[in-house]
Amino acid sequence: LAKSLGGDTWRFFAADMRPRASQTAHLETELRGALSRREFVLFYQPQIDLRSGKVVGAEALLRWQHPERGLLAPGSFLGLAEETGLILPINEWVLNEACRQGAVWEADGLGDLRIAVNMSPIQFRRQGVETLVKDALRSSGMRPTLLELELTEGILLGHDEHIVKQMHVLRSLGVTLSVDDFGTGYSSLSYLRSFPLHRLKIDRSFVQDLGSDPSALAIVRTIIDLGHILHLQVLAEGVETEPQLQLLRLEGCDEVQGYHFSGPIPADAFVAWVMQHGQAGSEPSHGATENE
Ligand code: C2E
Ligand code: MG
Ligand code: MG
Ligand code: MG
Repeated sequence: LAKSLGGDTWRFFAADMRPRASQTAHLETELRGALSRREFVLFYQPQIDLRSGKVVGAEALLRWQHPERGLLAPGSFLGLAEETGLILPINEWVLNEACRQGAVWEADGLGDLRIAVNMSPIQFRRQGVETLVKDALRSSGMRPTLLELELTEGILLGHDEHIVKQMHVLRSLGVTLSVDDFGTGYSSLSYLRSFPLHRLKIDRSFVQDLGSDPSALAIVRTIIDLGHILHLQVLAEGVETEPQLQLLRLEGCDEVQGYHFSGPIPADAFVAWVMQHGQAGSEPSHGATENE
């Protein structure tokens, strides 16, 4: 306790008492240096196939190991990173790091693990996202079909010719594309037909209310049916309870992700988790699914 009341703590409170604008400026300065100081790290959250029960992928989620404030989730700095454009170099780092890790896991025989990377709208509207992706794949040696890029509905909304073209180039490389937080954005369903997508990720707000709110169940069911009619895979985010899982299984959802299985964890913990829970392309650890 004495240590926690030491100099660092004082600096922390002193910083917090500054006016808001000054706090933001301070954070921006820190954010600018964070890449070169190697303070960013990726956590990985397992994605599970509901039929086989196996881990089929991991979503890479950004964390900032702040020297004073500890581990920060993206909610506390992503807004500023987008406003300042710093998200471009940061997300480029994320892409390269995720591909590097994916290639290492592939070489280690961890199975056919898909790695999903969240793309910023800003990054995607820029020319040359396909060059970034190609470079990350080439320098890492990661198999392109194991890379998934998560886009938001906002990216797709404009029906931008240039974005559609980039998506087709990415697809021709073998990369898969998913729509994150599906159902929360502008509900323009027409884009689902016109873009080369592979997967819808049902936003966790619908999954959370599955047991309690009949309209949440109706929405989840509709998204799963819609996805399947359009030949898209459907993954449910934010699965926290067994009843939620049962409902999703009943509704024919393909994949799940959430605290019920594991939250986002460091790379080494993720490997241990996969070893324990059965990996893609391997025998299940508990032999109930031999007839696959
Ligand atoms: P997202 O892509 O929708 O990621 C899912 C978020 O839900 C993650 O929060 C994850 O930790 C959290 N989550 C997972 N399972 C559960 C659950 O069962 N219950 C609850 N309550 N939450 C769950 P996180 O890591 O704080 O990330 C927040 C958002 O930040 C992400 O939402 C994504 O939009 C963005 N983000 C994360 N990493 C990156 C990145 O590298 N680049 C960009 N551009 N955005 C990122
Ligand atoms: Mg995501
Ligand atoms: Mg999401
Ligand atoms: Mg989200």
